Amino acid sequence: MFDLKGKVAIVTGGNGGIGLGMAKGLASAGARVVVAGRNQTKSDAAVRELEKIGGQPLAIAVDVADEASVNALFRSTQERCGRLDILVNNAGTNVRKQPQDYTLADWHHVLDTNLTSAFLCSRAAYAPMKAVGGGKIINIGSMMSIFGVSFSPAYGPSKGGLVQLTKSLATAWAKDNIQVNAVLPGWIDTDLTRAARRQVTELHDNVLRRTPAGRWGTMEDMAGVAVFLASAASDFVTGTAIPVDGGYSVLG
Ligand code: NDP
Repeated sequence: MFDLKGKVAIVTGGNGGIGLGMAKGLASAGARVVVAGRNQTKSDAAVRELEKIGGQPLAIAVDVADEASVNALFRSTQERCGRLDILVNNAGTNVRKQPQDYTLADWHHVLDTNLTSAFLCSRAAYAPMKAVGGGKIINIGSMMSIFGVSFSPAYGPSKGGLVQLTKSLATAWAKDNIQVNAVLPGWIDTDLTRAARRQVTELHDNVLRRTPAGRWGTMEDMAGVAVFLASAASDFVTGTAIPVDGGYSVLG
């Protein structure tokens, strides 16, 4: 039910943090993972880690905010792997400022990287997935898909938008046997949140206080949900958004 042998998966931002945690889960289940990021050194290191698990991983460089670069990633995946079954739209960024200090360039940078990227990648994934009889798309939202914070006026809209994009794609492509779901991670210890903790000093303790599990999440915590949503185990699950948050989103 969870076997991914013979499947090919693109993980954007798969060279670190949550993306690498999910990539490792997919590789453990037998998938061949394409690590798609900008930083070649990080991507090569991720491929070396994945090689220890198996599945002949490879790295293909991409800027997910650039339409031509995204289309080249999918062409190259087709040429080198011959098929595409799974797409994880994980690449993301944040610019932390009060809304009144936000420039239009900040706004576009966050929206393009987090939301437009998922549209571009999913659109490019449609034809190859349809060609193999179906596929799985996993969009990485956030607690900011649900809640607001004062210092992320574009990140929240981008992550809320990802949940709505998930529902739109799920309803459009169910007939093609393509399931589209979102994962909403809680607070996970990664480069992104290490930067946030440097900028927002009370964040670390607030997260510990507010998370029923009493700890920050790890990249390993993200592997299981990726395998579930990428495998036949979730064939009747589509359009949903699953929190993986140690209970953060349900604490009253
Ligand atoms: P990281 O900073 O470790 O990962 C971000 C990834 O995105 C990097 O691998 C980076 O690759 C990639 N990336 C950024 N911009 C681009 C771009 N233009 N083109 C290609 N790749 C790009 O942080 P996380 O692992 O924490 O974040 C991963 C996702 O999880 C993000 O979408 C984030 O919003 C989300 N998330 C994280 C949470 C957390 O607590 N950590 C909570 C909720 C959601 P490269 O360095 O090669 O550019």
